[in-house]
Amino acid sequence: MTAAPEGPRDRLAAIPAYRAGRRAPDGAYKLSSNENPFPPLPGVLAAIGDLAAEVNRYPDFASTALVDALSARHGVDRAALAVSTGSVAVLQAVCAAYAGHGDEVVFAWRSFEAYPIVVALCGATAVPVALRDDETHDLPAMADAITDRTRVVIVCSPNNPTGAVVDADALRDFLARVPTHVLVVLDEAYVEFVRNAHAVDGLSLLAGRGNLVVLRTFSKAFGLAGLRVGYGVAAEPIATTIRKAQTPFGVSTVAERAALASLAAEPELLDRVDVIVRERIRVVERLREIGCPVGDSQANFVWLRLGPDAVAFAAACEEAGIVVRPFTDEGVRVTIGEPPANDLLLDVAERRRDLVARPR
Ligand code: PMP
Repeated sequence: MTAAPEGPRDRLAAIPAYRAGRRAPDGAYKLSSNENPFPPLPGVLAAIGDLAAEVNRYPDFASTALVDALSARHGVDRAALAVSTGSVAVLQAVCAAYAGHGDEVVFAWRSFEAYPIVVALCGATAVPVALRDDETHDLPAMADAITDRTRVVIVCSPNNPTGAVVDADALRDFLARVPTHVLVVLDEAYVEFVRNAHAVDGLSLLAGRGNLVVLRTFSKAFGLAGLRVGYGVAAEPIATTIRKAQTPFGVSTVAERAALASLAAEPELLDRVDVIVRERIRVVERLREIGCPVGDSQANFVWLRLGPDAVAFAAACEEAGIVVRPFTDEGVRVTIGEPPANDLLLDVAERRRDLVARPR
């Protein structure tokens, strides 16, 4: 018998496993993964309906049609785009290409839980910088955290799980402080849900910047989480490097066609985003009336900073038929879902004021 391989490299032992939002039991609403509650549009279903018969073929290596469509949609060169299996895969390629052993990657914390995992996987050291009390990124502190070893800085707007956005002027000031050899990744997975006019829009900052990567995804506003397609936009040399670091043939033909059909149906999909934003506003207003400290989320979820009551509130939600995402002793993130699901959240908050209400 051959010997079993030795264990994985030490650094893997220290990496927390990604905790996906729990699946909902039958009859319960899943508000734990920031998914879009609307089913695919008929046009999107029609665009992918026949593709099962072609799965013996690899997809187009370069996702040419999707790259063409995104280039036209955003007014960027085709060479500035890197399309991959979700925006998190683009981030992974960035870290694989730019950060390794002995390097540092700075990001705000708490933020998207994939960040420390992706950073540790490439062998680099994570440098988390605490959010401010108002849940926003502390950009001056993040700039101060940059050292000779820093290769990448990740900025998340709106931030998962707090929903806070990064102010456009503040990001400009920050970028002016970041050395040009340090790459800034601006993760805009939820940008379509933003209604705050002062929030950053990464694509408008790209011109003339050789060290900025903007991440976008079809998973959230476009409702294609199950197909895994996202992209990065950056100056051409960076985008070329990211493409090199990616898993070949990652974006399936089904994913590419669905993304194309979604771009073609963008106005209809953005109407749905409007519905979700209206629901978000309704939920936030009501939670505040109840006395719950809820921040100004600009994403498709809300963040209840409940500290020690987080887990108990999540359990109460689950009993009522909604699965939410608790972060022990920190807070609870609840995706904005269909109105009856949001009503259930508000019912639980109303009944469990002992857990959610705070003195003002
Ligand atoms: N960035 C953030 C901030 C997210 O919350 C998520 C999804 N949870 C992603 C990226 C990943 O999205 P994708 O499905 O495009 O990989």
